[in-house]
Amino acid sequence: MKKKIIVVGAGIIGASLAYHLAKAGAEVLVFEAGAAAGGVATPNSFAWINASWGNPPDYVKLRLRSMAEWRELKTVHPDLAVNWCGGLSWDLPEVELREFSVQHQSMGYGTKLVTQAEMQKLEPNLKIPPEVGVYVAEEGAIEPDAAARGFLAAAQALGATLHEKTDVLKLLRVGDKIVGIESSAGTFKADEVVVAAGAQTKKLLSDCGKHIDVDAPAGLLVHSKPVAKCLNGLVMAPRLHVRQTAAGRLVAGSDFGGAQPGADPAQTAADLFAALRAFLHEGEILEMDFFTLGYRPTPADGFPAIGRPQGLTGLYVAVLHSGITLAPIVGLFGAAEILHDQRDPLLTPYHPDRLIS
Ligand SMILES: Cc1cc2nc3c(=O)[nH]c(=O)nc-3n(C[C@H](O)[C@H](O)[C@H](O)COP(=O)(O)OP(=O)(O)OC[C@H]3O[C@@H](n4cnc5c(N)ncnc54)[C@H](O)[C@@H]3O)c2cc1C
Repeated sequence: MKKKIIVVGAGIIGASLAYHLAKAGAEVLVFEAGAAAGGVATPNSFAWINASWGNPPDYVKLRLRSMAEWRELKTVHPDLAVNWCGGLSWDLPEVELREFSVQHQSMGYGTKLVTQAEMQKLEPNLKIPPEVGVYVAEEGAIEPDAAARGFLAAAQALGATLHEKTDVLKLLRVGDKIVGIESSAGTFKADEVVVAAGAQTKKLLSDCGKHIDVDAPAGLLVHSKPVAKCLNGLVMAPRLHVRQTAAGRLVAGSDFGGAQPGADPAQTAADLFAALRAFLHEGEILEMDFFTLGYRPTPADGFPAIGRPQGLTGLYVAVLHSGITLAPIVGLFGAAEILHDQRDPLLTPYHPDRLIS
């Protein structure tokens, strides 16, 4: 008999889990408080797919594996096709930039040191590229809300049902087992409940006695009105990360995680946009269209929390930052663990119990 699985949250993590669970033969019900693709982190993400600097070797391996999975997904749905446009970075002092390049190369990441002239060739519209940068051809970006909807459409084509505008009020617990959910549309039972509720994961778990140390810092991004192509790939400069979307908008943050909005988010956005205009040749033609504020679900130690919390059965948790990079692998590995009790060794460092009291 098919296992019945409830997924709470239809951001990119819930959507990927729903697709992979349905593909592996489960009966899947997705509950989303807002609309498909969510409204908290996923649609407000910079959506850089990478295994870049600042990540320890285990985490680089997980990210590289997920990047490989992204490549497999392009035939599943058109919105799951990543734009492998490459990334150019110089957001580190030169010595550290060189170290990053060497270290990551040894871990199988295609970093390449590039000169100013090479950078000018890669991105002719940059006003002042520095002497040295690192280029990674295998980095990419995706339109994150479309990708989440792509996963959901693929899950629905395999029989999953999506309940939008339906709040999950609490997890139903009988003894030490989670047996379903109570929602604004009534009670639903399942063999297992997957909480992929991003920043709200903390609340749902605390209602059943599990306190998970997850934060949700805000990140502000500015979006220009669409313009003709002026960037070929992602650019990560000190205090300004920028890419151009499929629709032609330039999206920028003070880094990929977005700027801290501060007391006056509109002023922060205006300052950031001024920096973007100064960054590019003919930047003065750019007009700001809007800015977004997203809340990044961020476990206390910065690494993903994926798995079954100890002491309760019928409950699986997936909460993480870098969810755009990692969505395919969280879906694939999560489905194998939920349905067949097979935990991939790459998930070993990321059990949620380390963050639960
Ligand atoms: C500004 C910014 C920049 C980022 N940049 C990058 C980047 O460059 N690369 C990268 O890999 N990652 C990046 N991230 C992180 C990435 O976007 C997130 O890790 C990812 O989107 C998290 O997805 P999620 O599905 O877990 O959460 P969400 O997208 O927040 O989805 C959770 C969903 O659960 C729903 N929900 C919550 N509670 C309930 C409930 N009780 N009942 C029903 N539904 C509920 C919410 O409505 C929401 O839609 C960035 C994030 C931000 C905000």
